[in-house]
Amino acid sequence: MAAFILEKLCRGCKRCVNSCPIEAITMFSHLAVVDPTVCIECEACMESCMHGAITFRASEELKKNNG
Ligand code: SF4
Ligand code: SF4
Repeated sequence: MAAFILEKLCRGCKRCVNSCPIEAITMFSHLAVVDPTVCIECEACMESCMHGAITFRASEELKKNNG
């Protein structure tokens, strides 16, 4: 699955935006959002995030931690 931003952990620092080689991440009012249709799952954004806000876990896990 594509990278996914955990909204509650994202601090809007844009490090992930700058790290993505294909510009799949954009900012929406201080929150990073990944376009899953273009993400190549390179994990560069996850490594760049200082706040652990980016995950590749299944959606079930996301609901548990993000809801
Ligand atoms: S690097 Fe992490 S905290 Fe910074 S904008 Fe991206 S997801 Fe949010
Ligand atoms: S996994 Fe790679 S391609 Fe996908 S959003 Fe993160 S940096 Fe961009």
